[in-house]
Amino acid sequence: MPELNVYEILNRKRRRELLEPAEIEEFIRRYTDGSIPDYQMSALLMAIAINGMSGEEMATLTRAMLRSGEQWHLRDQYDFIADKHSTGGVGDKVSLVLSPWVAACGIKIGMLSGRGLGHTGGTLDKLEAIRGFNARLTREEFERCVADVGCVISTSTEGIAPADKKIYALRDVTGTVESLPLITASIMSKKLAMGASALVLDVKTGSGAFMRKYDDSKALARSLIAAARGSGTRVEALITDMDRPLGVAAGNANEVAETLDVLRGKGPADVEEVTRAQAVRILVMSGRFDETAAENVLNDALHSGRAYAQAEKWIAAQGGDPSNLHLAQPRTTIEIKAPRSGFITFIDTYQAGMFTVDLGAGRHKADDVIDYAAGVMFDRRTGEEVRTGEVIARIQLGNEPRDAEELRKRFLWFVHFGDVPPEPHRLVLEQLTQG
Ligand code: URA
Repeated sequence: MPELNVYEILNRKRRRELLEPAEIEEFIRRYTDGSIPDYQMSALLMAIAINGMSGEEMATLTRAMLRSGEQWHLRDQYDFIADKHSTGGVGDKVSLVLSPWVAACGIKIGMLSGRGLGHTGGTLDKLEAIRGFNARLTREEFERCVADVGCVISTSTEGIAPADKKIYALRDVTGTVESLPLITASIMSKKLAMGASALVLDVKTGSGAFMRKYDDSKALARSLIAAARGSGTRVEALITDMDRPLGVAAGNANEVAETLDVLRGKGPADVEEVTRAQAVRILVMSGRFDETAAENVLNDALHSGRAYAQAEKWIAAQGGDPSNLHLAQPRTTIEIKAPRSGFITFIDTYQAGMFTVDLGAGRHKADDVIDYAAGVMFDRRTGEEVRTGEVIARIQLGNEPRDAEELRKRFLWFVHFGDVPPEPHRLVLEQLTQG
């Protein structure tokens, strides 16, 4: 193409004019190789954040960022291989449960996952609470794990979507993280790089979600699905509740322990339900099961112990010792008692997530060290009736000593009580498909 006029492209995007696919592709290519400087990319990002992008522009941006790095095309090696992505939440250990559960049904599944972001926990951080677990596999190790064990979760390698790595760092410091087209291109450029046959997106909604409002969550789900058009990966999305923490445990080591409980059929019902809904979609997309058969095979895998045995095999394959995970234990536990009788009407899940991060379970800065033992156990949940003085939660402290009274006060600030129960809620709110 003729020489790219960067200044003119910035001007046009500022005026809300559409960019040509070749212009977007060249812009991304030249930014990735360093010939467009950060300040010009920052200007484009801000113009996109303010003015948005058309569906076609967004799809082109996604493709350009995807093509900046490796594409693994794993679907060419197998009849079917699945992938799953969550937009993130508090207590969201679904990937950890889903992966071995689906593999125990004979379906291969691989995930390139991320670390905690803001108030949300990260799948890789949770897995690294298992001593010896290697979540930084090379592409060869990742592929071997898929072939030998049937499931794998690891970090995105250096070679995957390098454009996103550069752009994300810039968005982080230019106030351009919250932009539908930029979020879409960022997520999907990484997800499509693995090249799964099918991908299930768990798009969270509610106070602990990235997108709190239902309409915004739905717009994100639609946008993520649209960005995958023509990629060869079939995509479906479930919009699921994140207006309360998922499960009892929020943290890292405690979430791994809860994962194993779910895989033993003894975990919190909400974690099982949200995971099952996604597992059913994966099994149905494989073409080997209808919904009823998928439910049956999932039940059998769970109740026969196969899902748990698969988790042990997987953990061993990635370096952990399934007979002793060496999960860090809390040094102190602070009980939170109900200050009054009544119903728990609302847990502000964003605040609950930030609280957990502040305990050490997440990061404020990229180089912060995670305290795997730190976290919260939400023993009593939204909608439950409690009595004054009853223990409703346990705060688990790791290495850092904390002021118990201050923590109690802060905890009770984001947990609301009332005389009448809140409206009943559904965990899986909507299913969206391509086309
Ligand atoms: N997760 C990502 O990978 N990118 C975003 O932009 C937001 C969430």
